[in-house]
Amino acid sequence: MLQAYINAKIRNTKDTAFLVRDSYIIQTGSDEEILQEVTDEDEVIDLAGAFVTPGFVDTHMHLLGYGMYLDSIRLDDARSIEDIQAKVRRHVNDSERTWITAYGYNEDRFTLPAKPTKQMLDDISRDKPIVLMRSCGHVMTVNSKALELAGITENTEIPGGAVDYEHGIFEENAMTMITALSEEPDRNTLRRWAVKAMKQLNRYGITMVGSDDFIALGRDWKTVTDILMQMSYRDELTVRISEQCEFNTPEDLAEFLDEGYTTGVGDDMFRIGPLKMIADGSLGAGTAALRDGYLDDPENHGILIHDDDTLDTFIGLANRYNMPAITHAIGDEALDQVLRVYEEYVLPGNPLHYGIVHCQIMREDQIEKVKEMNLDAYFQSLFIEDDASILKTKVIPDTAGTSYPFASLYHSVLAGNGSDAPVTEPDVMKGIALAVSRRSSAGVYLRPEEALTVSEALSSWCENGVRMLGWEEETGVIEAGRLADFAVLDQDIEQLSPEEIVKTKVLMTVVGGKVVYGG
Ligand SMILES: [Zn+2]
Repeated sequence: MLQAYINAKIRNTKDTAFLVRDSYIIQTGSDEEILQEVTDEDEVIDLAGAFVTPGFVDTHMHLLGYGMYLDSIRLDDARSIEDIQAKVRRHVNDSERTWITAYGYNEDRFTLPAKPTKQMLDDISRDKPIVLMRSCGHVMTVNSKALELAGITENTEIPGGAVDYEHGIFEENAMTMITALSEEPDRNTLRRWAVKAMKQLNRYGITMVGSDDFIALGRDWKTVTDILMQMSYRDELTVRISEQCEFNTPEDLAEFLDEGYTTGVGDDMFRIGPLKMIADGSLGAGTAALRDGYLDDPENHGILIHDDDTLDTFIGLANRYNMPAITHAIGDEALDQVLRVYEEYVLPGNPLHYGIVHCQIMREDQIEKVKEMNLDAYFQSLFIEDDASILKTKVIPDTAGTSYPFASLYHSVLAGNGSDAPVTEPDVMKGIALAVSRRSSAGVYLRPEEALTVSEALSSWCENGVRMLGWEEETGVIEAGRLADFAVLDQDIEQLSPEEIVKTKVLMTVVGGKVVYGG
């Protein structure tokens, strides 16, 4: 059976219709041309003038983490310490929760300045361990019970992390002391989270993701790979996944490579992507590594997670198997380190697609270096919403003045957009609007000179992502011979202002010819 989609406005072409058989687009043309091919057994879908774009790509997010977040106590709309306490209190007696974990607070959204502490959680319970995770995933606050169970004392020190015992605050690597204790999810739970996350992604028109899932949930790479591959051949995946492989130790990476995994291994729906490394923390949490320190706390320079040697060990090992690295670097000091290590491995023109994830605090010389090395840029225009109001308070003016250089990167290297979900909600329309307006909902602009046009912003969420994730031969264009991955929107956003773009609705999402949302 064929599906004929007709009466559409298709991005970047005069064609108004296309024909789908099984997973593929087999022909494009005018309504008349396509209807000629159709028989009584086939299905005709009249899109009534709606806008069709190749499916959206979230180049960096955490599928399982996002599913867990959708399933958990959520703090993203908390505006005060009391808000957080009220939400946590409501769940503290849930019998199925042995650890109370709540996600997504961000003190920059509070109406009055405040920071969650151990004391405010002890007020809720001293018997049940409570963990609050900041929206960025780089800082957590716990109560006294959790400290006790983890065996933390005033003297505990952890390399690549920090513990503030008095206030119960953990940063970066120190958080593993807690996450290792809270119960590991079983396979069914992981599967449920994956499904929950994919459903939500499909609602936003997303058909493909670069997803980082191996270590954050206390599960090993084997379990996660096994589950996602199994879901793929059972036909249970509704987004294509390129796995961004993160490991706790070089030994884990060696074991992974030994078993024959490397970039490209997999099938149509699930593939092994690059090695994923994390060089520093986040700006909002004050853990991004800044060469010149934080303006609002000059003693603080943030945290470098690894020394050069460790980063080099991981990246060198993967490189021997033609597996490129993409590395989270938010602060300029972290980026200096990453560029230093990459220099040894990135070939001229960067054929393997090494990349920088986030591209936030960047100096002019670093932007030039990224261009020179032709590194892929994984940026998040959605971060502008929270970061517009903190950039100038945290980063020295010189460096703030060249940071978040999305247009500069877009025009010189391969640059794709993403949400880093659950850090931000993967709302593509909002992401496009922010890339174009560079203005937060509070009305604060973040370097509007680095704005993309709507068409460029669309490309950053579509075909650029497809190329970065290595799927460009198979999909990313509405064209005969391509996998039928597309989203149908109620209006042609290329004609709209940012205010109108955020109101645009996704009507339908199709992955490999299958309607996964709407329709
Ligand atoms: Zn991430």
